[in-house]
Amino acid sequence: MDKKYVIGVDLGGTKICTALVKLDGSVVKEYTIPTEAYKGEEVVLNKILSTIDKVIEEIDINEVQSIGIGSPGPLDIEKGLIVYTPNLPFKNFNIVKPIVDRYKIDTYLDNDANVATLGEFLFGAGKGSKNMVFITVSTGIGGGAIINGRLFRGSTSNALEIGHATVMKGGPRCGCGNTGCSEAVASGTAITKRAKEAVESKVETSLKNYEEVTTKEVFLEAERGDRVAKDILNEALSYLGITVTNMANIFDPDKIIIGGGVSQAGQIVFDKIEEEMSRRCLRTIYDNCKVEKALLGGKAGVLGAAALAILENK
Ligand code: ADP
Ligand code: ZN
Repeated sequence: MDKKYVIGVDLGGTKICTALVKLDGSVVKEYTIPTEAYKGEEVVLNKILSTIDKVIEEIDINEVQSIGIGSPGPLDIEKGLIVYTPNLPFKNFNIVKPIVDRYKIDTYLDNDANVATLGEFLFGAGKGSKNMVFITVSTGIGGGAIINGRLFRGSTSNALEIGHATVMKGGPRCGCGNTGCSEAVASGTAITKRAKEAVESKVETSLKNYEEVTTKEVFLEAERGDRVAKDILNEALSYLGITVTNMANIFDPDKIIIGGGVSQAGQIVFDKIEEEMSRRCLRTIYDNCKVEKALLGGKAGVLGAAALAILENK
């Protein structure tokens, strides 16, 4: 039977989102349910299976070519294991086997950053690219790389842990234990943290007018001219620009795609990246490398998982 579809499963700590996707990336049916990780691995596994059941309700399962799963890591993708992750109940849990057993369809697992990279590469801003780096700037900073048209995973599938590249010696402590990681100075979380410190301090800033200040308010007040908000952003985004430039100088990509919540904040993000790129990047690399905003937005998870299903099945 003609294989018209793949299934993408975006497994997150908050929600499980599963989509039936045509090979051209169009979503036919999508279903989202809360993960409720505290209920344990059996319940969450059954939830995953129920989302797959739901999206294939109206089609013949023989039309499904393969299934892709994007999950937070660390994973053992060869064995199909979720090794451990703080926001999911799975510990050394084989997530692929129960799915293959039930549906008899080839199933692939990869971490969420790699999956989002594949999504942008196949269906988004990276279409047609040969060498591309994807950087997501959200709660943390993560990424992936396509080299010669193929995902580069490294030896332990953890390549492109961009968020933990040191960019500021002696900088603030990162969740990983190191100090001065790009994630600790340039992520959405880092910006929020600096803003809260400013609110607690004696300096005068319009950020104090908010009950709860987040990254969004910092962007808003910077645009309105607040000096403190501007300084926080200048500092954070310049480190983001340095991080992007490092990726350009290392990989010599034709495209660097920036996604995640912070990429939605406005042109200033891209202006600051451009400022650091033009100042620091090697000329030949700079002239060839386009920095663009990710296109898949909220669909990055499911479409990425679908892209994994398509590309791994070749
Ligand atoms: P997640 O990390 O769960 O994938 P997001 O990609 O939305 O979630 O990233 C969350 C971070 O991005 C938070 O620090 C949040 O304040 C920030 N963020 C989200 N949307 C915006 C926006 N439009 N402008 C500025 N910052 C944003
Ligand atoms: Zn770190």
